[in-house]
Amino acid sequence: MPTHPLIAILPGDGIGPEVVREAVACLRDVLPDAGFEEAPVGGASYDLHGTPLTQDTLALAQRADAVLLGAVGGPKWEPLDYSVRPERALLGLREALGLYANLRPAIVYPALADASSLKREIVEGIDLLVVRELTGGIYFGRPRGVHVENGERVGINTERYCESEIRRIAVCGFEIARRRKKRLTSVDKANVLEATELWRDVVTQVGKDYPDVALSHIYVDNCAMQLVRDPRQFDVIVTTNLFGDILSDEAAMLTGSIGMLPSASLAGLGGRGGLYEPVHGSAPDIAGQGKANPLATILSAALLLRYSLSKEAEARRIEEAVARVLDAGLRTLDLLPREKRAGTTLVGTEEMGARVRKEMKNL
Ligand code: NAD
Repeated sequence: MPTHPLIAILPGDGIGPEVVREAVACLRDVLPDAGFEEAPVGGASYDLHGTPLTQDTLALAQRADAVLLGAVGGPKWEPLDYSVRPERALLGLREALGLYANLRPAIVYPALADASSLKREIVEGIDLLVVRELTGGIYFGRPRGVHVENGERVGINTERYCESEIRRIAVCGFEIARRRKKRLTSVDKANVLEATELWRDVVTQVGKDYPDVALSHIYVDNCAMQLVRDPRQFDVIVTTNLFGDILSDEAAMLTGSIGMLPSASLAGLGGRGGLYEPVHGSAPDIAGQGKANPLATILSAALLLRYSLSKEAEARRIEEAVARVLDAGLRTLDLLPREKRAGTTLVGTEEMGARVRKEMKNL
């Protein structure tokens, strides 16, 4: 852990700057010696420099110990050519930083258990983490494309994984499980897809180095069912790019609130340069109105402390403070049911951030 870590701050577009401001304030409180350097990304960068990701922003991200990003995109930039669309910045950052592991925690806070579409008794106490392989599999495999064969169009994509790609994401899954409840579930479709038969084989091999972690394997269709039937059985789930894309969204929806979901993208554990961002987008419909929920970004900052700076106690302080403000009934608009409940208070972005920091001081 560096003594004076450098954190790159990329606020981006829409509500990005509003929610990032609150998360940075939390980080400043727990990291008095850190440096914070800000740079434009996405549409904001395009407006200034004609590209969503400049060399300067990229160099800052590469130099930094970790990157905190808000969100990119919005209707203003939708007519642009694909090559300079704001979303290209995310792909550019992932590639340049070699981020192959995407972590998406799904936690149901007791105060918000009624926000889920599932019954409280099924979701209360959920605390699981999906580790998704991010740079391989069917989204990148070749051959790919659409061509004409025997007078009709044929579409092809290729699921492809080599042993080293599976091994490194499996190690990531085991290491994280080791720090949590020591249960790892590997998701595949080994009964019909040979590429995931190899996946299962390699994950099992890696598991021999982690006798303290209970490894189980599950087919993706069963996993999708179990996530809505009995989600509390899961601790850490490790899976392929495609399955992880779908399952992490399903797991997120168990919590019922988009404004609460953090994420991390890593180039392995203990390495520099992880990228931390809320799962939600730039929410142009509420941008600039002070209504956005900053908690997903604040919780992303907690992940940054945990996974890039090995500051577990500080990460927990933020997470505990978030739980406390929710217990105290504070809600941004997205967290309020249609009919306001007794005991809840509507707050804006700034006030929510300030209350989290106040709770942090009390911890
Ligand atoms: P979105 O997540 O921005 O918004 C979906 C809905 O959720 C909206 O009604 C929004 O107001 C609400 N919402 C989202 N975050 C919120 C928060 N923190 N607090 C309160 N309410 C919140 O998704 P979208 O509308 O499909 O996309 C909007 C733009 O964001 C698009 O340009 C899209 O490409 C981009 N996007 C970017 C990312 C990213 O930067 N990683 C991810 C998804 C979408």
